[in-house]
Amino acid sequence: MNAKQRDELKALLLALHSELTDKTPSRIEPNRTDDARIGGDEDEQPLNEMMQAIASNRNRNMDGVLARVLKALGKLRDDPDAFGECEECGDEIPLGRLRAMPYAEFCVTCQGNKDGPKGRATRSKLTDYT
Ligand SMILES: [Zn+2]
Repeated sequence: MNAKQRDELKALLLALHSELTDKTPSRIEPNRTDDARIGGDEDEQPLNEMMQAIASNRNRNMDGVLARVLKALGKLRDDPDAFGECEECGDEIPLGRLRAMPYAEFCVTCQGNKDGPKGRATRSKLTDYT
């Protein structure tokens, strides 16, 4: 990776960083009965709970991304030559992948290896009960 490509990815990371830090976290609103809304039927309650679950999930994911953005920026500063290398196998992560996800830590293969066994373990655990 050359300096120009690193600059491009750094700009992407900085943009992501400001987007993630300036944006107020999705607020978790208390259950409310809004009279202005049509109805007030009892179906609304489970929906609110679902929305809260989604909102808190989203906050968790955003925190994870922010941590990786910060890590990638630190790497760019401290060890720019290693930036863009897979942390697992040391191969260069393709630029296209980095453009889409400048905070990527692993190449597609290693990411797949990491995601794979975990998914299988969960599934086999579920079938233990049968
Ligand atoms: Zn790799």
